[in-house]
Amino acid sequence: MAAIHLLSPQLANQIAAGEVVERPASVVKELLENSLDSGADRIELDIEQGGVKLIRLRDNGSGIEKDDLPLALSRHATSKILQLEDLEAVGSLGFRGEALASISSVSRFTLTSRTSTQDAAWSVSAQGRDMSTEVVPAAHPAGTTVEMRDLFFNTPARRKFLKTEKTEFRHLEEVVKRLALSRYDVGFGLRHNAKVVHQLRPADTEIAREQRLGQLLGKAFVEQSVALDVVAEASGLRLWGWMGLPTFSRSLPDQQYFFVNGRVIRDKVVTHAVRQAYQDVLFHGRHPAYVLYLELDPALVDVNVHPTKHEVRFRESRLVHDFIFRTLFRVIADLRPQDQAPAQA
Ligand code: ADP
Ligand code: MG
Repeated sequence: MAAIHLLSPQLANQIAAGEVVERPASVVKELLENSLDSGADRIELDIEQGGVKLIRLRDNGSGIEKDDLPLALSRHATSKILQLEDLEAVGSLGFRGEALASISSVSRFTLTSRTSTQDAAWSVSAQGRDMSTEVVPAAHPAGTTVEMRDLFFNTPARRKFLKTEKTEFRHLEEVVKRLALSRYDVGFGLRHNAKVVHQLRPADTEIAREQRLGQLLGKAFVEQSVALDVVAEASGLRLWGWMGLPTFSRSLPDQQYFFVNGRVIRDKVVTHAVRQAYQDVLFHGRHPAYVLYLELDPALVDVNVHPTKHEVRFRESRLVHDFIFRTLFRVIADLRPQDQAPAQA
């Protein structure tokens, strides 16, 4: 065996990237979350070849100070938490400080940014073996642009796991959809190979939100769903959104979006509660469609379960389960009889 030595920063980052960066869609998720955390309300994405060739994101958020630019690419460097206690009530989407370090270790990566108080923009790139970075002047309005080219160019084994351009783009678009459904106040633009795929303006009215819903999930979902907004007085839990009519059931669970405090999640407790509410009105093998938002005290939910953060842990899962189940069950019970009936398969 060789003597013990420290991993080079790039190798350490590449190993960490194995957890965070699976495909172009995971890169887009991390970049979009960073933009949302920075307070941006306008985000433009340019994608080439399913995101493998190019992912360019531009936002109008807080920007990054010149001196912080190299740090942004370092592992375990974050502006979002200072101490362990902050994790208890983390309000930001990111907090691990791993994403940019990971992504920049497996691609050709440039970060360009300007804060509103700086009168010049600066840029930092990383693609060298030691991940050394140099800060150079650049032209850019207030905000940040991240450019990632040639994903996995230096890790051919991982590159081999990428699927076709079409499949990679489908995954990537799904990520954009989820985040666009989580923040109606933010405008999103998505272009693929120079063609506009989505152009979503900030939506601040009920009508505008339903328009966005229609653009992302299709008109049929909007027409065949009911809006709800229920607050439990005792616990303060709030559930709002749209639930598809039982008659709009699907053969696949492909239109199920559940957000907890603005974060898209997949959770057994939630899925079970929703299923149970629909149980009597759906045929076996059919799946409900829904876009639902649960809001609760951040201290009652643990988001630090998994690096990609699709999982949460509720402090009082029984309470959450019963609230979701009862709320949805009541909405279904109040539907017109013809809307309750299971769809004829
Ligand atoms: P995390 O999001 O977990 O903090 P990242 O590696 O994703 O870690 O980002 C590192 C840091 O870089 C962030 O904490 C933030 O300060 C800064 N940053 C990244 N992207 C942006 C952006 N689009 N706008 C402003 N700051 C950003
Ligand atoms: Mg992040």
